[in-house]
Amino acid sequence: MKKTILCFVLMTLLSAGAAVAQTKVVAHRGYWKTEGVKGPDDATVSSQNSINSQNGAAQIGAYGSEFDIWSTTDGELFVNHDGVLNGVTIQTSKAADVKNLKLPDGEYISTLDQYLKNFTKHPNLEVVLEVKEHKNKLQEDAAVKKAIKLVNKYGLSKRTTWITFSLNAMLDMLKWLPQGTPIYYLDGELSPKTLKKIGAAGLDYQLKVMKKHPEWFKAAHDLGLKVNVWTVNKKEDMQWCIDNGADFITTNEPVTCLQLVKAN
Ligand code: MG
Repeated sequence: MKKTILCFVLMTLLSAGAAVAQTKVVAHRGYWKTEGVKGPDDATVSSQNSINSQNGAAQIGAYGSEFDIWSTTDGELFVNHDGVLNGVTIQTSKAADVKNLKLPDGEYISTLDQYLKNFTKHPNLEVVLEVKEHKNKLQEDAAVKKAIKLVNKYGLSKRTTWITFSLNAMLDMLKWLPQGTPIYYLDGELSPKTLKKIGAAGLDYQLKVMKKHPEWFKAAHDLGLKVNVWTVNKKEDMQWCIDNGADFITTNEPVTCLQLVKAN
């Protein structure tokens, strides 16, 4: 009798453990907010998408550090969110005109090569690499190819998650990356069913899209897909994502989110 009860308790614990995976926290553009220290925009000591912000994400124990990449016309890849930095449009400029641009915190803009190299200092930090949508699709194709090469160069292929708004770039990734590589789509218009058909690992959708389609959490999970929600900055929204079983939350407030995940 005792054995049967013990067996039942163990099985219940195991199945609960399998069903409830903890939500992982991705620092959106790195961790660039540090309370109490005034920076360029009053709350910032390191710029978004800077090496400092990547280091910050590692320091606070985030699961991953997200960043965005753009290609120049001559095929150099740079890390920045906006397409334009200090008046220079990256995708229509040459590398020589971009490499000396400074981020608001005074750090030079990073090439993808430099940015990935820095990830090798943080063995527990997932690389969450967003390929930005380029006007020139050949340039975009080349950007995906080069990004894959650089990820491999630094031995980061096993801990890189690929994300994009561009359907073209996603199809490139699906073609050129090994099967099973986590590739997520950011634009909210494709259903989990369609993403499964295409071969994506899941959806990485804006909070308002997921609020409109809360049924997509279960639909995705039933199909074996994962769900990442961005950019979730309010505590109540983080809790909503956790309650709905989000696999990842991408946030500008990773410290708050990490605390909340721990408390759940
Ligand atoms: Mg991004």
